[in-house]
Parts: sequence; structure tokens; C-alpha cells
Amino acid sequence: MEFNLSDHQRELVEMARAFTKEWISPNAAKYDRNGEFPKDICCEAFKLGIMNSHVPVEYGGQASATLDHCMIMEELATGCSGIATAIDGNGLSQYPVILAGNDDQKRRFLAPMTEELMFSAYAVTEPEAGSDVARLKTTALKVGNDYVLNGVKWWITNGSVASWYFVLARADDKPTGFIVPADSAGIVRGPKENNLGQHASNTVRVTLEDVKVSEANRLGDEGDGFRIAMKTFDHTRPGVASGANGITKAALNIALSYARRRRTFDKKLISNQGISFKLAEMVTKLDAARHLALKAAWLFDIGKDNTREAAEAKWFAGDVAMEAATECAQVLGGYGYTNEMPAEKLMRDAKIYQIYEGATEIQKMIIVSKLMRMREIH
Ligand SMILES: Cc1cc2nc3c(=O)[nH]c(=O)nc-3n(C[C@H](O)[C@H](O)[C@H](O)COP(=O)(O)OP(=O)(O)OC[C@H]3O[C@@H](n4cnc5c(N)ncnc54)[C@H](O)[C@@H]3O)c2cc1C
Repeated sequence: MEFNLSDHQRELVEMARAFTKEWISPNAAKYDRNGEFPKDICCEAFKLGIMNSHVPVEYGGQASATLDHCMIMEELATGCSGIATAIDGNGLSQYPVILAGNDDQKRRFLAPMTEELMFSAYAVTEPEAGSDVARLKTTALKVGNDYVLNGVKWWITNGSVASWYFVLARADDKPTGFIVPADSAGIVRGPKENNLGQHASNTVRVTLEDVKVSEANRLGDEGDGFRIAMKTFDHTRPGVASGANGITKAALNIALSYARRRRTFDKKLISNQGISFKLAEMVTKLDAARHLALKAAWLFDIGKDNTREAAEAKWFAGDVAMEAATECAQVLGGYGYTNEMPAEKLMRDAKIYQIYEGATEIQKMIIVSKLMRMREIH
């Protein structure tokens, strides 16, 4: 067992940390307040090669390891998890293509994204199908060599900046994956949602009204879509967990710095056990959440089943981030409640990690379903 970072990983972390310091942290409050999409920062991230890096080499990417991606995500999210989500959002929609796309699809949809700054989106959730994806209602009617798609997709990250969507729809009643160009006739993008946090991330409704999609854009066979959409999470959940860990790290650093400076009752705040124990718990839970995320990523990279570990990492890191952000605000007292200090932003941003890419309860259901197939844990 080896816990040391390789030279390459150390360089990646240092590069991501420097990028965060230069581009993300100084702009975090601005994008949080104006809610604009941080295209300029994505452009810098693209130039540095930290967007789309998991795309296979033969399609212009770097085929980078999930483990490396997790380390980068933690650094970016320490500066602002909303901007980090904007930078990382492509991965969720690209992975179904990496997983199930044929050569032609990868050339048409992945390769261009490594040549210029472009976005894509994963359009699966619907008004009546969130946790329970199998309830999806969007239809794909086969007409000649095309499909005609109709339905409503909700809360789609990158929805109004995407050049194409991964869409899950029912073809002959079977959940099926499609790559749908965003300029197809009949795509209607809603306004940006007014979310609690991660204001830099773009979330919109996407409606499909008689959208014609060529059979050449179907991923795999009819009926493969549910497996593709779910398998994607084995790859993305460790990275999402690492984003949550970035929030925990930011919360810990803010609380630690404040508790060292602030004096009450003639002593520093940190000298009070009631406060210092909060910091001890934060750092211990951060260590545990990191190990879960990195182990889930490592398992994926070596080709082992990581569905349980990815779910463990996602729920645990999400809960730890929410708790750390809340405790950070508590340590800061009044400053924890104003937007003069970033603690309140961390609280708003952290909440989404308990909801998207499968809510906490759903991760626990996945873990239990794996447990039920085991006699005992070794
Ligand atoms: C900001 C944001 C960005 C998003 N981005 C995307 C995106 O890019 N693409 C996309 O397709 N979707 C996206 N989503 C959708 C997101 O994945 C769903 O909101 C999430 O999966 C939960 O689904 P739901 O909202 O329908 O909640 P529901 O499924 O209605 O669940 C409501 C609550 O009940 C719990 N629950 C449900 N069933 C059970 C059960 N059997 N036992 C115990 N508890 C249960 C859930 O955990 C949740 O807490 C995004 C959502 C948000 C808010």
C-alpha cells in the first residue's frame, strides 16, 4: 500500500492549486453574486489542459486517471465549487460517449471538445424521474433512420452553454442513450435556475419538442441507456466527492485561521476545547472522505468494480462538507452569517453535494444493494 503522491501527481496538485489561487479564489465572490457563467475561467482551464483531460488520447485528450482528476477537483473546489463544477461539468456527459460510443461518435463529439472550448451536458433527470431514473417519460420514436424525441429534462448542468446533450429517452419503451446536438430544431432551453448555491454553475430546463436525432447518434443499442447512464457515475462520483472535499478543506482553513486570531474572554478562540474539537473533527472527517474518494477513483482506474466505494465516497464527502461548512460558520459567529466572509457561501454551495449525482439516500441504497450480495465484509 502506497500513500505517497507520484512526482506527476504532486505537479498536478501544485498546478491546480496555483490555478485556483490565480483564477478561481479571486473571482469566487463575483460569480457567486452575479450568477454569470465563468466562461473566461473555463477558457484558462481549457488552455491549461484541465478540462476534458479524461478524453482518450486518440481523440485528442490525455486519458488522464480518475485519481489525478480527483486531486485536481479538490483544489479547484477549494476556491469555488461552483466554478469547479463549470470547469468539470463536461465530464458527466462525455463519459457515456467514452464508455459506449463508437469511433465515429467519439470523433464527432469528443475530439472537437479538445480542440476548442466547448461544453456538453448530461440530460437525464425529468420532473418525475430524479432518483428513480427508470420512471423517465421522454420518448424516442423511430421514424426511418431517425428518432424523434419528446420530453422535458430538468436541472441540467451546463444546459444553456452545451453544444450537445447526452439524453436518456425511451425507444420502444426501453431507456436508450442519444447524443443530441444542441442546435437541433425543437431544443428549447429554459432560463437559468435560481439555485441556493454554486451560482457560477449553469442549471436549466431543456425541453425536446419533436427533436429529430439520427440513428448514428444512438449510444449502443436500444435498451443500453440505463446501464450507460448509471455506469458513468462510477467514474464521476469520486470526482464529485473530491469537489465536496474541497469545500471541507476551505471551511477548515477559514475556521482555523479565524479561531487562531479571534480573542474572547481573554484567550484565543482556538484555546477553547469546544472550538478546537470542531477543528479536530473537521480534519479527521476530511482525511476519511479523501481516502474514500481516492480509493474509489483508484479502483476505477485499475478496472475493478467501484460502485459501492464511489457511492460511499459521494455520500460521506457530501455530508462532511455540509457539516464542515456549518461548523465553520459557527466558529466565525456573526461573520459566519454575513457575505463579508465566505462561510455562508460554503454552506450554500455544500448542500448540492448531498443532492446531485444521486442524493445521499440513494448512495446508501446502492451500498446496501451491494452488501446484500455479500456474505460478509473482509
Ligand atoms: C443544481 C443541480 C444540478 C443538477 N444537474 C443535473 C444534470 O446535469 N443532469 C441531470 O440529469 N440531473 C441533474 N440534477 C438532478 C439531480 O441529479 C436530482 O435532483 C437528484 O438526483 C434527486 O432527484 P429529485 O430531485 O427528483 O429528488 P427525488 O427523487 O424526488 O427525491 C427527493 C428526496 O427523497 C429521497 N429519496 C428518493 N427516493 C428514496 C427512497 N427510496 N428512500 C429514501 N429516500 C429517497 C432523495 O434522496 C431526495 O432526498 C441536478 C440537480 C440540481 C439541483
